[in-house]
Amino acid sequence: MIRLYNTLTRRTEPLQPVHPGEVRMYSCGPTVYWFAHIGNLRSFVFADLLARLFRARGLKVTAVMNITDVGHLTSDADEGEDKMIAAMRREGKSAWDVAAFYADAFFRDLKRINVEPADAYPRATAHIAEQIGLVERLEKNGFTYRTEDGIYFDTSKLADYGRLSRQKAAEKKAGARVEMGGKKQSTDFALWKFSPTGGKRDMEWESPWGVGFPGWHLECSAMSAKYLGVPFDVHTGGVDHIAVHHEDELAQTEAATGALEANVWMHNEFITIDGGKMSKSLGNVYTLDDLAAKGFDPLALRYYFLGAHYRSKLNFTFEALEAAQNALKRLRAFVRSVGESDCPTAKGGSLLAASRQAGGKRPRRGGGSIGEVEPAYERAFDAALDDDLDTPEGLAILWEMLEDKDITPADRLATLLHFDRMLGLRLADEVGKKDEIPAEVQALLDERAAARAAKDWTKADALRDRITAHGFTVEDTAKGQIVRAA
Ligand code: AMP
Ligand code: ZN
Repeated sequence: MIRLYNTLTRRTEPLQPVHPGEVRMYSCGPTVYWFAHIGNLRSFVFADLLARLFRARGLKVTAVMNITDVGHLTSDADEGEDKMIAAMRREGKSAWDVAAFYADAFFRDLKRINVEPADAYPRATAHIAEQIGLVERLEKNGFTYRTEDGIYFDTSKLADYGRLSRQKAAEKKAGARVEMGGKKQSTDFALWKFSPTGGKRDMEWESPWGVGFPGWHLECSAMSAKYLGVPFDVHTGGVDHIAVHHEDELAQTEAATGALEANVWMHNEFITIDGGKMSKSLGNVYTLDDLAAKGFDPLALRYYFLGAHYRSKLNFTFEALEAAQNALKRLRAFVRSVGESDCPTAKGGSLLAASRQAGGKRPRRGGGSIGEVEPAYERAFDAALDDDLDTPEGLAILWEMLEDKDITPADRLATLLHFDRMLGLRLADEVGKKDEIPAEVQALLDERAAARAAKDWTKADALRDRITAHGFTVEDTAKGQIVRAA
């Protein structure tokens, strides 16, 4: 039974889908004004892991992630400039071109870090009519008022406003400097903002209240209702969204429909760097391309995320990423090594066929070409993930299983590939692969073979050391040297 921590109730609760056998989930996606950084990627991988967990338990998943391409101001509380317009200035492109460019980059990143595609990626700019419709309903229900710069949601009209962050409006006011403008309460937020008088925005639309653009929170209420209905099951995002964005989404949907938008609200903790915030001015905002330039595989970042519970803060260091990359290399080497020699049934490429089967269906004994998933480890692994997505515990079980020499390598491989359907490290791709041997290592191997033939053991040992220094191990067998990536 899946149990999930619900920010709304502050409890870990059994998942009880609205529609039996199905899970409908909505995740706050990127604001496409810049490349996704590792913090954003953590939240996208978190949503992916949840969807994989639901699917692994036989639930039909409908996953939706929005793309914010208008309306997200530089402050979450309706202040500052639209992030898209700021990017347009920075890059000398239209806001539409900025959005198209960074949305493409986002989809590329998702592929690289092996996030399974959601069912829909609705864009705010493609759902203006739905957002206007929602404001009209709120207006009809008496929750709106007009100021000089827009139409606002009156939080004093909703009795339980603040239920997600558990902060009353008064406390929020005391805690943060909020530009009131014409707002009645500091917690009130924009539903529709007017274009500046006399000016024309790159992104603006006609509305019953005047030309302008939607407030940021509106899109998620409007699009989740359209694609998933109300209420749906699970809403995800980073913890920064609890106090404002999700609080306001929840309030709007409740005011418009009388229903709770989503039953379970889940939030991933932040990634910090050197214990502090990532920021462009400090030059510590890392993207997948930045990591690739330093020699890191995107899947090493994925492994790194798996090593921490999604509700734990994660302080990023390159040492920790390096350790994750090494662990991933060890897993890949294990998969390749079973394919190469240890697995007696791996001959003739049959293991490769079996791994394809593992990618789609659970491998079973009796197929003849691959081992069996070890039931005790499978149960432990599933229990860890069912317990609020405890991936660090899942990884601990994985390593314990790999070191369990009572299990045949073929069974360990089957179990590992089975776990990886959940973890998403693309280990099945390694089956049947040979370690790529760089030319300089091959030259050392040839030299060493000659030294051994000449019985020059001292030279052969020295050459082994040089090969090891390149990150490879050599084993001498009756058939000659076997080399593997260490
Ligand atoms: P944004 O593109 O700013 O709208 O953010 C996309 C997603 O990334 C949201 O769910 C944010 O809550 C999340 N997010 C932003 N920064 C971080 C961070 N440093 N660590 C983890 N998640 C983050
Ligand atoms: Zn959102």
